[in-house]
Amino acid sequence: MPKKGTRAKLLVSDDKKVCKAIHQYSKGKISSENMDVLMEIGHGCMVTKNYIYQRYGGIKSLEKLYPGYVIEAEVREAGFREKIGLPSVYFSAAMDRALGDIRIMWAQVKSGINDAASKNERFSPEDRHYIRFAIKVSGCFENILNGKPVSVPKEMQPRYNKILMELGEESEQRVRDLNRFVCRQARKRLRKQHTDNETYFAVKMKGYKYGELDGKHGIFLTTKVSRKRMFIPLTDTNVYDRTLDIKLNTQKRSIEIIVPLFVNVKQHEDYTNEIGISLGLWNMITTSTGNVYGSEFGKMQNEISMYVLKEMSQNGKVKTSDTKKYIAHKAKMDAALKNYVNMEINRMLGNEKTKVVYMAKLPRNPGMSMKGTGDTYFLRMWKKGFVTERIQWKCRENDIRLIEVVGKGIGTDCSVCGQKGYIEDENFKCPVCGFNENKKVNGARNALNRGKTGKQLNKKLP
Ligand SMILES: [Zn+2]
Repeated sequence: MPKKGTRAKLLVSDDKKVCKAIHQYSKGKISSENMDVLMEIGHGCMVTKNYIYQRYGGIKSLEKLYPGYVIEAEVREAGFREKIGLPSVYFSAAMDRALGDIRIMWAQVKSGINDAASKNERFSPEDRHYIRFAIKVSGCFENILNGKPVSVPKEMQPRYNKILMELGEESEQRVRDLNRFVCRQARKRLRKQHTDNETYFAVKMKGYKYGELDGKHGIFLTTKVSRKRMFIPLTDTNVYDRTLDIKLNTQKRSIEIIVPLFVNVKQHEDYTNEIGISLGLWNMITTSTGNVYGSEFGKMQNEISMYVLKEMSQNGKVKTSDTKKYIAHKAKMDAALKNYVNMEINRMLGNEKTKVVYMAKLPRNPGMSMKGTGDTYFLRMWKKGFVTERIQWKCRENDIRLIEVVGKGIGTDCSVCGQKGYIEDENFKCPVCGFNENKKVNGARNALNRGKTGKQLNKKLP
């Protein structure tokens, strides 16, 4: 999250950039000694994060979070890093990550309060206006939570006064009530953060160097022993220059490096249409324009399911075999499916030339409610999660707005007259106006209609 003061500026440039993760992998097995050193660093980073979560995750620390140098100074003063003996390139990266997590949590708390306020029917538009202001403007939110008088920045004072005026004659009492609401809602949503993950940590730029050793390309990582860097060969020769995330696989004695990259959003002047889409287990995407993308999607998934089932039945009651051949083949099939999904989404965006895509809201964790059902269904639902994630990503990458709409009844409402219809075979039929169309096309048309008439759930995506 951007620091206070630079926020507006960053937003402008961030608008046209998206973050993409690049992965690098270690080559060959890492020695046990080096693995132990990495584990120790991972442990130190975990301890550091928990220390930060615990000390700065509460209401009292809220005002210190932006820009954060007060916290840095306090932590330095406390000598915590020296106590756990972690090199500062790992320590300060862990601290940054933990503070980032805390800031994300507060952002979620704030948006939760906003949601609660807009759902609360006892509130007038003026009340909601006050709450939105109090949450957004610095000097308000943290002071309200800490029971201190609100201090609004000078340039905001006229707006604040106007909002108080709008609350009417009893504004003082009203402000007290609304502040209490904000406090209650914040406490309800605030959660203690904690991590048990010792195998995921970050390293600052100063803590590594890409290079070669004995003819192998790899990365030199700072260790606890000063001036002694550890060399890990990598499978590629790419070089990056930012804070890296490192994921340890202790069993395989390998590491994965995750590199956050900001790439420019592609701008398409000719993308001017608006479409609705509906997702399917068989045809991946059907559009309101009547086109299908990913018509092989169901078939490919089915082949994977069949392969998994076959493997399971061959091994009797034993769980899915983990023979090398099986794993390799399964991975190949999964990769082919993912590749196909990406290709077909690209084809859709290029074909439809759309600037807005509307789709029904899907359950957040589709797999969660599937316990006890067959593997096939679970697998399909999982892939569906993957599909929505890819659609979201591709839209952001191409500067296309993806807007979720209310999903209730989207398959059975008539997209022409709005009355309830029924599904027969693959078709939707309307008994009122006689509309007869493929059910997925009807669903996609409903998504478009709902989007255009303002039944939107996320007017602006993050
Ligand atoms: Zn109808």
